[in-house]
Amino acid sequence: MKILVTNDDGVHAPGIVALAEALRQLGEVVVVAPDRERSAVGHALTLHHPLRVFDLHPGVFAIDGTPTDCVNLGIHTLLSFKPDLVVSGINRGGNLGDDVTYSGTVSAAMEATLMGIPAFAISLVTAGNGDNFTAAAAFAVKLAGVINARGLPADTFLNVNVPDIPTDQLLSPLITSQGKRRYEGSIVEKVDPRGRSYYWIGNGEQKFQNIVGSDYHAVSHNHISITPLHLDLTNYTSFSALQNWNLS
Ligand code: MN
Repeated sequence: MKILVTNDDGVHAPGIVALAEALRQLGEVVVVAPDRERSAVGHALTLHHPLRVFDLHPGVFAIDGTPTDCVNLGIHTLLSFKPDLVVSGINRGGNLGDDVTYSGTVSAAMEATLMGIPAFAISLVTAGNGDNFTAAAAFAVKLAGVINARGLPADTFLNVNVPDIPTDQLLSPLITSQGKRRYEGSIVEKVDPRGRSYYWIGNGEQKFQNIVGSDYHAVSHNHISITPLHLDLTNYTSFSALQNWNLS
């Protein structure tokens, strides 16, 4: 197999290092990743300043851009081959529910899907003290092998979340739906030394609705979660309601 590996935590993050090392047992792995952490940049593409590529080691490139930039430059410029698979991760922190729209990790897999290349994102749902990237990396190898043998359904990429627990407590993977966050006031307002207010978004707590069958429900019960995603955000079930609006 020929695999492009990227992430949004930066090229030196432990998750991407563990992932690339594990995937090398399947074939050739090239890493193209941001030169620093670019978490929560979503599907951003850099259009208004030049991008620099740093050739760190054989098969490892850092770019001063976003995960989406990395997939673009990797596939169109840096790689001497078209990859069989793009894997994005292993993110330090889950990418569950509505958060996938903010995620640079998930967006990198999305970008590969737009190019017609099979892809998955993989994230470790960290509790803050385990960082068991080894189990998540081993699962990435298994999943990559299955995708190589069976292919993915059309227009589909996978968002994988692995609970951060000891390997012998991990339960079997479940195919899940994208969950929903519980939105609560999570903006912290403080005052700086010059008396001006500043704001900090989010308090880092994972608060999701406990929906049976969802990604959150799976990982909170120690299962690996695999959510099949696609790029068509159209809400087909709303068509009949909207067609009744008198807009002409
Ligand atoms: Mn990240």
